[in-house]
Amino acid sequence: VFMMILIVFIIAAVKLSSSMSKKAMVPIQQSFKQQQQFLADASHELRTPLSIMNTSLDVIELENGDTITPYSKEVVADMKEEIGRMTRMVQHLLLLARSDAGSVEFEMGAFDIVPKLRQWVLAFEGVAQKKAITLRKMLPDTLTVKGDPEKLKQLVYILLDNAIKYTPEGGKVDVGLDPNPRQWRIIVRDSGIGIAEADQPRIFDRFYRVEKHRSREEGSAGLGLAIAKQIVIAHRGSVVLESMPGKGSTFSVEFPA
Ligand code: ADP
Repeated sequence: VFMMILIVFIIAAVKLSSSMSKKAMVPIQQSFKQQQQFLADASHELRTPLSIMNTSLDVIELENGDTITPYSKEVVADMKEEIGRMTRMVQHLLLLARSDAGSVEFEMGAFDIVPKLRQWVLAFEGVAQKKAITLRKMLPDTLTVKGDPEKLKQLVYILLDNAIKYTPEGGKVDVGLDPNPRQWRIIVRDSGIGIAEADQPRIFDRFYRVEKHRSREEGSAGLGLAIAKQIVIAHRGSVVLESMPGKGSTFSVEFPA
């Protein structure tokens, strides 16, 4: 009888403890989900006032075209730049929050990436020219890949934006595409400031910036590569980084065929 009471007691204790731990998990998971949803909603909501502010500044510029003082003109330009920076940051936060919540939609399909890449690189020719950076493309004639064109565009934009941002005037940035049939690669190489070995594993972390002050001046928040990583993971790819301070960096993103 004693043994039976003991066994019943042990079974009851095990059941109770497992139900208690389940109960403890649910509120934590729930509050985590709520937090993710809150961040996604907040980022989404912030986009509208930012775009209204931008339009309002356009109106101010348009209405005061001839009469605006050089100082006010500069103030308006600064405000637009800050709004642009915040808009990018909010877009990045929204994408990260959505990807945490598992609600980013990837529209995978087969497409020729070569004409797209030409177009994406073209968008950076102006900024590159301003810094006298030689921007070169090394692309095959055609390469059909499977992926989400919009997300891959975002990935290339992040890598190219960084390559130009962290390369001093007169430097070089190359964009390549390796059509290896087993594993195709997008390669972005720059002759810029490079990344110290100790920082290399951390640059894909959220909000991580190597030189805080410098990056801030460049208008960055340290979210770009965290997003790039999510996009690469969703495509089952991987990033290989080779970099040397003072010499430059090469980001190779490999994708399974
Ligand atoms: P950020 O918005 O600051 O550029 P990222 O997540 O894109 O954020 O990059 C994180 C950090 O990695 C940057 O702040 C910079 O210090 C470093 N970094 C990224 N790309 C390069 C590059 N091509 N050359 C040198 N440093 C880089």
